[in-house]
Amino acid sequence: MPGFVDNHVHVNEPGRTEWEGFATATRAAALGGVTTILDMPLNSIPPTVDVDALRAKQEAAQGQCFVDIGFWGGAVPGHVGDLAGLHEAGVFGFTCFLIDSGVTEFPPLEPEEFAEQLAEVARLGALMIVHAEDPGDIAAAPDCHGGRYADFLASRPRHSEERAIGQLLDGVRVTGARAHLLHLADGDAVPALQEARAEGLPLTVETCPHYLTFTAEQIADGHTEFRCCPPIREADSRDALWAALADGTIDIVASDHSPSEPSLKQLETGDFGTAWGEISGLQVAVPAVWTGAAGEEDAAVATRQGEVLHPLVMQRH
Ligand SMILES: [Zn+2]
Repeated sequence: MPGFVDNHVHVNEPGRTEWEGFATATRAAALGGVTTILDMPLNSIPPTVDVDALRAKQEAAQGQCFVDIGFWGGAVPGHVGDLAGLHEAGVFGFTCFLIDSGVTEFPPLEPEEFAEQLAEVARLGALMIVHAEDPGDIAAAPDCHGGRYADFLASRPRHSEERAIGQLLDGVRVTGARAHLLHLADGDAVPALQEARAEGLPLTVETCPHYLTFTAEQIADGHTEFRCCPPIREADSRDALWAALADGTIDIVASDHSPSEPSLKQLETGDFGTAWGEISGLQVAVPAVWTGAAGEEDAAVATRQGEVLHPLVMQRH
């Protein structure tokens, strides 16, 4: 069968190769049926925010890769002038965060700078890909300490995704930039995205295997291996994501594979407040989504199975 393209993979080499390097990431991809990955511009050091950093990435990847690789650039504060060079050098587009990324060397864009960089992306005819959670909404939510998953979930509420998506859609309307929404976890955001699609905005939407597979209700306290941002939400949200995938509101399923060293996941203390925020899923992404799509227990999927399987996961290679 054809190989898949996973457009959202964090290979952390150079700089944090012990988290994930090109040799291990691309073997995981091949094992999971993925024949092309697009590498995110963070958590490697340096982050891919200028052409020199892109060259460092490409050199690090040299001779180590078991599958094809492409690269995203990063849109971070103070680097709007680097976007054209990176675009010219062949990155697939630019990643930005509207909220703390989890690593200090890849800061988020404040609203004004987001608008400015989105305008530059539009001028270049490039693509902006966006981590959409609103920092104000999350600052106003209760802090998360300790091992209760419900506390972690409450610390990153659904409306923080909806507010950030609203900011993204407004920016796209103003600038005409092509944009891609990363890792949608909030099923309540689907109607706004449907409207945006109906409006003809140049927007694509992604979700991840973990949001389609797990639910908050199933995650036991202390199991920080499930900690990711935005968080895995309740079953109604998962069902809404499947329906949105079936009706074409969601275009792509990508892994958001972002491992760390096991110790950083705080598996011993089970503390959601301090555990590394992302998860590892590259080699199981295709089978997990395939199994979910073929499953009988999910009515939304079972009734539309033929339609689900066709647009599924990452474009065919
Ligand atoms: Zn990511």
